[in-house]
Amino acid sequence: MRYTDLRCAKCGTAVEPCMTSTQDDDEDIPPCDALLFLSYGNYGSRLFDSVMGDEYLLIIICDSCAAELREAGNVIHVTKEQPAVTRRAEKQERWRREGEEGTGSHGHVQ
Ligand SMILES: [Zn+2]
Repeated sequence: MRYTDLRCAKCGTAVEPCMTSTQDDDEDIPPCDALLFLSYGNYGSRLFDSVMGDEYLLIIICDSCAAELREAGNVIHVTKEQPAVTRRAEKQERWRREGEEGTGSHGHVQ
């Protein structure tokens, strides 16, 4: 199964590979206009927890749905400089302001 055999986990839109493979091997190519999300699960999940870290789940979210999730405050962009919990409130406030100004409609998820 290839990444692009998956559809957007939110809206079901099909995705296309972002380039044409030039090799005959089974190298996978990431999707265009979409994000790949990888999860090792977590202890609290009743669905999946890769205790040894040797397996993971993979989903695709199209860029449009990712932008909607971001605008709804359901995305956390974690950096080395700032932990996720304090950063989230700041991002939500910035996205709210950008939404009011109409400048945040086609940016990257950050
Ligand atoms: Zn989508």
